[in-house]
Amino acid sequence: MSEKDMSKFKRHITKCPHCGKDVLDHMTECPFCHGELESYSYKPLDPEKVKRIRVIATIVILALAAIIFISANL
Ligand SMILES: [Zn+2]
Repeated sequence: MSEKDMSKFKRHITKCPHCGKDVLDHMTECPFCHGELESYSYKPLDPEKVKRIRVIATIVILALAAIIFISANL
């Protein structure tokens, strides 16, 4: 597994509220203690936060595009 894949993987790691072990956020059941994780994985997203993330993502994409454009024209 590459480092890029690992960081992608790590972003989805959360702690099991029952046993404290690392579990993936899309899991509905802890593989270690078989505790319920549903309330964790289906947390409703704050629309204000989503909007902010979208704005930041747009800025990052535009900045990257600008860098690529500038470096391609050097
Ligand atoms: Zn657990």
